[in-house]
Amino acid sequence: MAKIRETTSKFIKVRCPKCKNEQNIFGKSASDVRCLVCGRSLASPTGGKAKIKARVLEVLE
Ligand SMILES: [Zn+2]
Repeated sequence: MAKIRETTSKFIKVRCPKCKNEQNIFGKSASDVRCLVCGRSLASPTGGKAKIKARVLEVLE
């Protein structure tokens, strides 16, 4: 199950729910963030904050 969570943090380590790739993404990304391995959408912009559509493993301040 993909978790949908909003965050204001800077960098977030997430795991792709499809291929299990771990990737650091920017929490305030203004554009769609996609998995570097399989291309699945991991986060999408929602007015300043990114909506995370993957499992959050760690928040990197
Ligand atoms: Zn992936």
